[in-house]
Amino acid sequence: MGAQAHPYLNDLNPAQREAVEALDGPVLMLAGAGTGKTKALTTRIAHLLRTGTARPHEILAVTFTNKAAREMKNRVARHLGETVEGMPWLGTFHAICVKLLRRHAELVGLKPNFTILDTDDQIRLLKQLISAANIDEKRWPARQLAGIIDGWKNQARTPDRIPAAEASAFDGKGPALYAAYQERLRTLNAVDFGDLLLHMLVIFQTHEDVLAQYRRWFRFIMVDEYQDTNVAQYLWLRLLASEHRNICCVGDDDQSIYGWRGAEVGNILRFEKDFPGARVIRLEQNYRSTPHILAAASGVIAANQGRLGKTLWTEEQDGEKVRLIGHWDGEEEARWIGEELESMQQGTRGLRPFNLDQCAILVRASHQMRAFEDRFLTIGLPYRVIGGPRFYERLEIRDAMAYFRVAVSPDDDLAFERIVNTPKRGLGEKAIQKMQIAARANGVSLFEGARLVLAAGDLAGRAKGQLTALLDGFGRWHGAVLDQRESHVELAETILEESGYVAHWQNDKTPEAPGRLENLKELVKALENFENLQGFLEHVALIMDNETEEGGPKVSIMTLHGAKGLEFPAVFLPGWEDGLFPSQRAMDEQGLKGLEEERRLAYVGITRAEELCTISFAANRRIYGQWQSALPSRFIDELPEQHVDVLTPPGLYGGGYGAAGMDSSFGSGIEQRAASANVYNSPGWKRLQARGAQRGMAQPQESRNMVIDMTAVSAFTTGDRVFHQKFGYGVVADIEGDKLEVAFDKAGRKKIVAKFVVSADA
Ligand code: ATP
Ligand code: MG
Repeated sequence: MGAQAHPYLNDLNPAQREAVEALDGPVLMLAGAGTGKTKALTTRIAHLLRTGTARPHEILAVTFTNKAAREMKNRVARHLGETVEGMPWLGTFHAICVKLLRRHAELVGLKPNFTILDTDDQIRLLKQLISAANIDEKRWPARQLAGIIDGWKNQARTPDRIPAAEASAFDGKGPALYAAYQERLRTLNAVDFGDLLLHMLVIFQTHEDVLAQYRRWFRFIMVDEYQDTNVAQYLWLRLLASEHRNICCVGDDDQSIYGWRGAEVGNILRFEKDFPGARVIRLEQNYRSTPHILAAASGVIAANQGRLGKTLWTEEQDGEKVRLIGHWDGEEEARWIGEELESMQQGTRGLRPFNLDQCAILVRASHQMRAFEDRFLTIGLPYRVIGGPRFYERLEIRDAMAYFRVAVSPDDDLAFERIVNTPKRGLGEKAIQKMQIAARANGVSLFEGARLVLAAGDLAGRAKGQLTALLDGFGRWHGAVLDQRESHVELAETILEESGYVAHWQNDKTPEAPGRLENLKELVKALENFENLQGFLEHVALIMDNETEEGGPKVSIMTLHGAKGLEFPAVFLPGWEDGLFPSQRAMDEQGLKGLEEERRLAYVGITRAEELCTISFAANRRIYGQWQSALPSRFIDELPEQHVDVLTPPGLYGGGYGAAGMDSSFGSGIEQRAASANVYNSPGWKRLQARGAQRGMAQPQESRNMVIDMTAVSAFTTGDRVFHQKFGYGVVADIEGDKLEVAFDKAGRKKIVAKFVVSADA
């Protein structure tokens, strides 16, 4: 079988081709970023199908993020055109395990319609268990227990398999609470994220017939980002593959960034032991990035010890150096990136034009996103946030989802508890306690418990009437879910209306209420993309993606973790400051493990860029409402100087925009030193910065905020000439609280929050 019959093979280099054509037996592809591992893997899937070696359902391909899975699906589809029916099993471990577990739920004591709990539910449940065990939650917080349990699950440890050495966890009560938690999940007919895989693993380990079925079924197994598999995932894969040994794993030890979640780079090394005779293929040519970008990334990662070690080269031409820029604070950084993105669309600083789809901002911590979102909303720059369930985290969305959950499975106690008195139905804590007691005494769900309380005549007046109405409602809605006569979109609307939830926000006079109603509409709109409510709930439980699909290019904002495997022509890497990146936690840790993982994350970040990589840092940052001064990241010191261009930081010069109270001597000190390209690398600069931080930084910052606040409230009168970042010059026509109506010279009349304009008279 050659390239003639299979033209897609022509797009590969010899090493990739070897990986694609080695269809029989174990293959390990170990190579650096951008060398075409994922490309080889997807081509391999196409090749399996095109050569008739496998039918679609015989292929199991696992990736790490939903976005990567989607991308892979697209690539495979492109390879295949319309010739092959059906698609392989292609998704994240979680997504694949949900599907499998629904088929075999009974084997672990669950019903097929089990609910998937999110972290919030999980914590609430653990809190209950902790307090029931008379443990002081202040000293032993539920979050900590959640972390311990997740850790065990990642290690494939069920409650009966906790090793003696770890029995002392959580004041010695960890194992017992874990067991109680699992028991509770079972009665709730629920699982958490870790369970999805662990339950399937246990089923494979204890039911040979089921395992045998899937071994026959998944004849070809492929794993991308293999360096980030944890023990449970590894064991699961090994069980499935150990008989036919048709497993192909691809990975890069330098990109292992999930150690904190139990991933083990050691799995790469273990592969050759578990699958003796495995073909190991190395790729060295990078097809993604320019030499400067590649050299910068290599320079940073070289500081890590204990690497497997790889050489990377590229045929690409020189291109732009990695750009480095410092800012006064995080807001300034967001403002600069916003402006840069706007001018990049036309081409700026001698660069070619980039459209917004080609640009991404990769942050270390998701709280960094807020500054960009705020800024981009202000200037009207289209963006999408990828990787955070932000939309679905909103209060009204969670409430609405809880209604849907109960309608789908009335025994979802956590969801029922959330909404039984939302909106207020006169059901106080006492009433809910009565329901819980009745439920526990009779071994039934809280929903049934509520029914029992009603039947016993234990409630009176308004509470009685309202609860009766609610239970009747759920009776109807659950019926509608089952008989599927009504579309689930209409049903969702009905539920939100009849339950009084929509009216609750309509009657709410807080400024957020209209937005919340909009969000509920948006939620119902989102349902249209699904076949039924259950499919939707599953999706939300799994997704980390909230992009709305309205047209037009948008810049992507996501975490570095979420960007794994992706690539963009232009990448911004903000927040390179010690304490943020590397994280404080990694810096405080004994030994180098945490720091090395952060460094790998830096390597992942830089290697996402194809043509343009811009790293930035701020001298001040507000973290959880506290101003903190910061030093540039130590990773900046590790960037090889000859591949870096230092850009002029506008905000630090006292001039430019919004400089009130800012041009302290510290600012001009930086100005002088920033002229030299290696200033950011010099320890002297760092010391200076640290001194400046101690001396003046918090001070001017506070006064600056005051200036802004005053502007917002009282600084303008009608007739004032003002300037707005996006709309240009205009005249204040009307003032209403902190909002101005401005007649802009070019953009016409608009309502603007006062703090977003500056006076143009002065
Ligand atoms: P990462 O480690 O970041 O996941 P990767 O090794 O999976 O990277 P890919 O995403 O598969 O790399 O490929 C990187 C880029 O190089 C893609 O744009 C891909 O299309 C391109 N590419 C891969 N192989 C070749 C090739 N043989 N010829 C031309 N372009 C290629
Ligand atoms: Mg990849």
